Amino acid sequence: MTDCTDVLVLGGGPAALCIASELNKRGVAVEGIAPEAVDAPWPNTYGIWANELEAVALDHLLEHRWRDTVSYFGAGGDAAEDQPTAHGIDYGLFDRAALQNHWLNGATGVLWHRDSAERVENEADHSVVICASGEVRKARLVIDATGANSPHISRPDRGAVAGQAAYGVVGRFSEDPISSGRFVLMDYRSDHLSDLQRLEPPTFLYAMDLGDGLFFVEETSLALAPGVAYDVLKQRLKQRLDHRGVQISEVLHEEFCLFPMNLPLPDRSQAVLAFGGAASMVHPASGYMVGSLLRRAPGLAEALAAALADPSLGSVDLARRGWQALWPTELVLRHQLYQFGLGRLMGFNERLLRTHFSTFFSLAREDWFGFLTNTLPLPRLMGVMLRLFALSPWELRRGLVLGAAKQQKPCWLNEASND
Ligand SMILES: Cc1cc2nc3c(=O)[nH]c(=O)nc-3n(C[C@H](O)[C@H](O)[C@H](O)COP(=O)(O)OP(=O)(O)OC[C@H]3O[C@@H](n4cnc5c(N)ncnc54)[C@H](O)[C@@H]3O)c2cc1C
Repeated sequence: MTDCTDVLVLGGGPAALCIASELNKRGVAVEGIAPEAVDAPWPNTYGIWANELEAVALDHLLEHRWRDTVSYFGAGGDAAEDQPTAHGIDYGLFDRAALQNHWLNGATGVLWHRDSAERVENEADHSVVICASGEVRKARLVIDATGANSPHISRPDRGAVAGQAAYGVVGRFSEDPISSGRFVLMDYRSDHLSDLQRLEPPTFLYAMDLGDGLFFVEETSLALAPGVAYDVLKQRLKQRLDHRGVQISEVLHEEFCLFPMNLPLPDRSQAVLAFGGAASMVHPASGYMVGSLLRRAPGLAEALAAALADPSLGSVDLARRGWQALWPTELVLRHQLYQFGLGRLMGFNERLLRTHFSTFFSLAREDWFGFLTNTLPLPRLMGVMLRLFALSPWELRRGLVLGAAKQQKPCWLNEASND
């Protein structure tokens, strides 16, 4: 068929560039459709555990790397409660341009079109993408990498989807908001909150020293449906900083972050394949995804290149091979476990969450790291979750077993009504 490429990738974000690059490196004819130039700067900053990048030999793509990585799970207010938990693993922030160029350099044979995909239609042996410009593009397989809100990917409706919401500031401060040279994964200290605020959905501080007097501080809600409002997060960040006697003296950049944490897995019989946010690849327990893109794209590209070598396979068969490679049963089951865990956590008040994370990070480092990066085989993951349960105090076990879903209202409201 003329004018029909092998694979048409929709999107120009991390997922699109990653899969386009891996397919191109395997000799697959790839075209892409993205509204912006694919080398235009991305709006988000991406963080990752340095070990994840070392495992794929890409740690040179980090712009910042912290050795002093900690969290706070005490209530705050005195020396014992202000004690940080050291993670003992380096954390890094990608050099966004370097990551983008890494993938673009692998995708030199990809033909990119500046356009927007409006509709995807599936014929017997190929798919057709109708673009906003009126152009019609054909491919044996369409891969949707347009992010979590894609209208082209169908997925079951499981009710409200929980979002990770955050409001952050890159700026200068009247004094260091966190210790110099430090990365703070989660600061759950709550001594700046009123009793009433402690009954509201918990939020934590994610923060890092960017050097040269610059810091990034971000008030974050792990997951909630609907997501915590930005004005609440902004007010809480100010309150937290005020309490420590810190004022923001210059704002260089504000980050407004909201993305789904427990998006249901897509319908894996559809003729369009997805990758990245559109394929629900965000880790439901942590919200991270870039490490997963890097780990999973080569296997997916390999499977697709092998399937595309068979000219008799049409879009439905190719997509099916892709879905099987992307979401094998093992990963589906792990994903379900993570979603179950997140469902429990969403009902916890800040005190229970602090206890939970303090217990979680007392696990062996390879266990919590493997859990957070989704790199543990299923039996080991189950073992880690059982161990976490065994280590948990009774109140936490009760929450983990019964969860908020089984209760009439979340734990943080139970406490309110107990007053
Ligand atoms: C603020 C923020 C911070 C995050 N931080 C981290 C982090 O530190 N570490 C981490 O691992 N994960 C992080 N995530 C989660 C996740 O990695 C990101 O959401 C990531 O950007 C998802 O990549 P994606 O390529 O799937 O989608 P997106 O980045 O959303 O890219 C979608 C692309 O598709 C294009 N597009 C949209 N519609 C169309 C269309 N109709 N046709 C063609 N193209 C279209 C868009 O223009 C864009 O180029 C963060 C998310 C957010 C929102």
